[in-house]
Amino acid sequence: MLKDHTASVQGQFDRLRRFQPVWAALSYPQRAKLIRGFRDLLLVKTEELADILTREVGKPRAQSFREIRGAVERIDFFLENTEAALKSEIISKEEIIEFEPLGVIANISAWNYPYLVGTSVFIPALLTGNTVLYKPSEFASLTGFKIQELMHEAGIPSDAFTALIGNGRVGQELLAVPVDGVFFTGSYATGLKVAKACAAKMISVQLELGGKDPVYVCDDVNLAWAAEQIADGVFYNAGQSCCAVERVYVQNSIHDGFIEQFLIHARKLKLGEPFDESTTLGPLTRSAQVDLLEAQVKDAVSKGARLLCGGTRAEFSDRFFPPTVLMNVNSSMRVMQEESFGPIIGIQRVEDDEEAIRQMNDTQYGLTASVFSGDETRARSILSRVNTGTAYWNCCDRVSPRLPWSGRKNSGTGSTLSKRGIQAFLRPKAWHLRMPVAN
Ligand code: NAD
Repeated sequence: MLKDHTASVQGQFDRLRRFQPVWAALSYPQRAKLIRGFRDLLLVKTEELADILTREVGKPRAQSFREIRGAVERIDFFLENTEAALKSEIISKEEIIEFEPLGVIANISAWNYPYLVGTSVFIPALLTGNTVLYKPSEFASLTGFKIQELMHEAGIPSDAFTALIGNGRVGQELLAVPVDGVFFTGSYATGLKVAKACAAKMISVQLELGGKDPVYVCDDVNLAWAAEQIADGVFYNAGQSCCAVERVYVQNSIHDGFIEQFLIHARKLKLGEPFDESTTLGPLTRSAQVDLLEAQVKDAVSKGARLLCGGTRAEFSDRFFPPTVLMNVNSSMRVMQEESFGPIIGIQRVEDDEEAIRQMNDTQYGLTASVFSGDETRARSILSRVNTGTAYWNCCDRVSPRLPWSGRKNSGTGSTLSKRGIQAFLRPKAWHLRMPVAN
């Protein structure tokens, strides 16, 4: 059984390998027209797609809608910027750089934002002339099928884009065929396995992994406003965002006031059925995550933390976890070290900027960090000393198609989005051209 299936991944790969030069030989406007068709279908079918996504991963329907619209915005960015990235650089008459597609790429993806993390990879990959084997998460298989269906409906051949539906075993099989690039989004634990599987292959490997993203609230902010912004960064999508706020550090003098304001917003959230329009906090996608969240609360409380709200799964279902806020936390606690990926937050008191910088860097992850302060110079000076790929001043949990998305430390390697996230799917060819000497 496994053997037959492996053969079929190899078969799919062979098809895409054969077709890749044909796809790359199309003019850019021809490829762009097909991708624009896919983009337009996302808009026409947003209602249907949002229903499927909400049914599948449980995010409130308005958030599914927003995700699909966000994906369209990303596609527009790629459509506007890819042609320029394909242009040769003419250094002189004798030296030229051309840009060629990598070939066949594997895109192994996560379930938490399947449209956003998917389009960041497969759209620039296709526009630059690569063919794509796309493995959606097994927790977002219906969405993965739907993406494939719309691609093909838009006229993108199945030999250019094919979805491989299945779990991690299919991911392993995909890594066993000789693709030319692997673009992975998922947890650090799986990312490490992917990196090891690719180590001997000498191909491009990009890893977008987890985070434990901190926010530091300085003593010169409007507390009510900052608390509202940060609560949104903690609880949006039930905290299941790679760049969700996972740790909050608050300067001593405003600590109690911040917690008071923060709790107002945490208590406003409505936990419930995701198709109910009043719901702002849906279920967790994987029930196993609920066990982790409870274990983090237990560990923190046993080490001296104070639980201010939430803390255990909802009585009506194992899949729901209420907004959970802990104070008196410190860096020895799991909730301040491990990715939680849920609606839970630890809030820690710090004396000054130096202590905040030390605490923010005290993690294995390095995806984003944020400072809320009335003083831009102060905030930027703090953030320049925090080892993350993204720095936010007075905002958080935000991704822009125009800026590179890249992790440091255990948050991964490489960049998607921005012009760099287009170049990632190209390799340079350096031409040295010398005129012959006359006979
Ligand atoms: P995951 O690591 O469990 O799975 C990711 C993908 O890898 C899935 O498609 C899965 O089937 C596949 N997979 C599992 N085992 C594999 C193996 N041995 N070989 C090859 N593929 C394998 O992650 P998840 O639960 O889907 O996603 C949540 C994680 O993703 C969180 O850690 C989150 O922070 C991270 N994430 C990061 C970003 C980012 O941009 N940095 C974006 C979204 C999600």
